[in-house]
Amino acid sequence: MTTATVAVERTYEQKLDLLGEVAVQVGLGLKAGQELVMTASLDTVPLARRITEHAYRAGASLVTTLYTDDEATLARYHFAPSESFDYAAGWLYDGMGAAFKSGAARLAVAGANPSLLSNEDPDKVGRANRAVSKAYRPALELITRHAINWTIVAAATPAWAAAMFPNDSPDVAIGKLWEAIFDTTRINVDDPVSVWKKHDAELHKRAARLNEKRYSALRYRGPGTDFQLGLADDHLWLGGGTTAGNGNYCIPNMPTEEVFTTPHKDRADGTVTATKPLSHQGTMIEGIQVRFEAGRIVEAHASRGEEVLQKLIDTDDGARRLGEVALVPHSSPIAHSGMLFYHTLFDENAASHIALGQSYSSCLRDGDKLTPEQLAARGANDSLIHVDWMIGSGKLDIDGVTATGTVEPLMRQGEWV
Ligand code: ZN
Ligand code: ZN
Repeated sequence: MTTATVAVERTYEQKLDLLGEVAVQVGLGLKAGQELVMTASLDTVPLARRITEHAYRAGASLVTTLYTDDEATLARYHFAPSESFDYAAGWLYDGMGAAFKSGAARLAVAGANPSLLSNEDPDKVGRANRAVSKAYRPALELITRHAINWTIVAAATPAWAAAMFPNDSPDVAIGKLWEAIFDTTRINVDDPVSVWKKHDAELHKRAARLNEKRYSALRYRGPGTDFQLGLADDHLWLGGGTTAGNGNYCIPNMPTEEVFTTPHKDRADGTVTATKPLSHQGTMIEGIQVRFEAGRIVEAHASRGEEVLQKLIDTDDGARRLGEVALVPHSSPIAHSGMLFYHTLFDENAASHIALGQSYSSCLRDGDKLTPEQLAARGANDSLIHVDWMIGSGKLDIDGVTATGTVEPLMRQGEWV
């Protein structure tokens, strides 16, 4: 056996442990004495336990993990009374908010079955999502404002692996998914911590270059896409890690390949076609095509899951408007893998994307000091939802438009110019 092309040989157990360590130290930036609130599904227990150990080793005062169970979620859809779907555990989200306010960090282990709710009543799915969005909003706001350090990291689960590798046996599929996670999360390298620091610095450099340009709009052209979106006044491009309001440096998504900012909620015009299916809260939406007028979706279609899409954009007025625009080169390691993950954490880092709904105030100059009215005046969108969907591909061209109307090529065939 030759190992010439393999940088590092580690066992699965070693890689899992390393992922836990990198998640705590690089992603979360957990400080000694800090409390940690983690969410995870029962299928992700092995990684959640590694993270817990590394959090305590880093000096965590207390790690509290809230586990979810897919079977129990389905039992609700099958047996709960109809009123159940307008209700969410507000007391739980209030408790999370209280923990964040008193200094806790937040870590989410992702790994959900991408089509868990695909066969459930879209009306129930929509109502349940809305109830959770409402109840979670005050706590989530502390996250979107980067008041606290937080991160999301993924663990392979049997259902997710089966969705990605339907022709493989369960053992082979989950092994492939773990390798894909270790690869794209930069664990399969000699020194993941230093590789992550270098990658983080590169994303910051890319964002700084875009901030110098002060583009007022971006123009997109590709198959099924002919679209222009305005950027919010005093927008800031961000990428990689940030220092949270509590002073702790974190990299909120692992992996992350995007630089992103806040579009202007009233300035989007034209037609956009998604380049990847969207897995949203356990349902698949495919073949999305929408038309914007003055920032608002006036027409929306999907070849699969259109009803879920319509319910999603009917959540509130802001759900029809854009809250994020992100640029990702087509050569990113995730795109390069050629895999479709059916998971936003990965797929959004494989392609340029836009998000419907809530904007990040951290993507505006002094955004954390502005009132909701001031944020709106700059073009920041407000909604209960924030849903990313992928519009980038190797066939997409993007131009930057300056305030004086000069058009500069920014990306050609999906790559930075
Ligand atoms: Zn994004
Ligand atoms: Zn997003």
